[in-house]
Amino acid sequence: MKILVLNSGSSSVKYQLFDTEKNKALGEGIIAKIGEEGSYLEHMANDKKTKIDVDAPNHSKGLQVIIDTLTDKDLGVISDISEISAVGHRVVHGGDEFFESTMITDEVIKKIEECVPLAPLHNPPNLQGIKEAKKLFPGIPQVAVFDTAFHHTMPEKAYMYALPYEYCKKYKIRKYGFHGTSHKYVAIRAAEILGKSIDELRIITCHLGNGASITAIDKGKSIDTSMGFTPLEGLIMGTRCGDLDPAIVFFLYRRAGLNIDEIDNLMNKKSGLLGISGISNDVRTIISNAKSGNKRCQLALDMFAYRIKKYVGAYTAVLGSLDVLVFTAGIGENSPEIRSMICNNMKVLGIELDEEKNRGAKGVESIISNEKSKVKVLVIPTDEEKMIVSDVVKIVREVGK
Ligand code: ADP
Repeated sequence: MKILVLNSGSSSVKYQLFDTEKNKALGEGIIAKIGEEGSYLEHMANDKKTKIDVDAPNHSKGLQVIIDTLTDKDLGVISDISEISAVGHRVVHGGDEFFESTMITDEVIKKIEECVPLAPLHNPPNLQGIKEAKKLFPGIPQVAVFDTAFHHTMPEKAYMYALPYEYCKKYKIRKYGFHGTSHKYVAIRAAEILGKSIDELRIITCHLGNGASITAIDKGKSIDTSMGFTPLEGLIMGTRCGDLDPAIVFFLYRRAGLNIDEIDNLMNKKSGLLGISGISNDVRTIISNAKSGNKRCQLALDMFAYRIKKYVGAYTAVLGSLDVLVFTAGIGENSPEIRSMICNNMKVLGIELDEEKNRGAKGVESIISNEKSKVKVLVIPTDEEKMIVSDVVKIVREVGK
């Protein structure tokens, strides 16, 4: 089967055409700056990377460019779109409606629309991608894969906030969690790498990218995760503050004279590693400045690692014990320095790194704990597209039965 995975953002669409028989991506890329000046396509196929300026004033045109590219006689990898068996769409928020990936019907589209108030920045472009794809791929099954779905197994005591119960229910205020596809993928991979059944493992997965979250997984099921009602809660991120005393919001409003939108922007776009370092949201830049003696950069790194360490401790307690700790995404996969800071002095939890293996593990699947470590510590590059493909194939086969 050939499955097209689409990730439609507000001004970009990422795509990957995956061949399940060959078990590899035939082609992938991104259309960027949709609806803006200078739209361009980056396309990778047959070990060749191409970047070209394109005309993409809207998502519909953008998707058409993707189709034209995938079927192009020079750049393409298929001769006709009828070779595509199904399309998988990444959808950020499934609210409390969607517990698993779902075949897209008009009813499903309506329900995703109802989730827009919960993800006003993300669900509208996701929906746009779905609607355009339905038009451009008539008769080809379309499946929605939700970032929130993996976390639906959290118990009520973990997902409820201690606000008046009626408010939580009326406005659907609860922890939803995000990055679910990534956490699920690396947990499944960890079990495979260790040759164990996921049903016998207690796993903590750390997705550390520009956005960052950590999940406690008991026998393959998410039982708690650090992102919450929105992706702002939890870990310190590139530009997000993560956990803080909610009263700081009122204080910034009353004392610093910021309005609600300014506070929202401050906490989502100007905080985190960028806010503390004052230089960058990129860990590479911060590490090199810290090494040259920049104290605020060192502080940003210390705070980042400390927050993760606290969550690892808390989630070990919640799980009752820990078998596997996984690092993934840009920072988790590539930064031995950060992994080392997190795992330093964690013998009490049975976590001990082999520093040489840790230093050598960059963007490849590796076991970086030492022989004595009770907990296996793994680096696993995430592959959300592969997880989406696997869900799409499952659903298409079930429907075809
Ligand atoms: P997202 O998908 O959330 O935008 P990624 O998972 O691509 O983010 O991670 C991006 C981040 O990964 C960068 O901002 C940078 O901080 C970090 N990163 C990437 N490569 C390295 C590296 N070699 N060393 C340390 N950090 C890195």
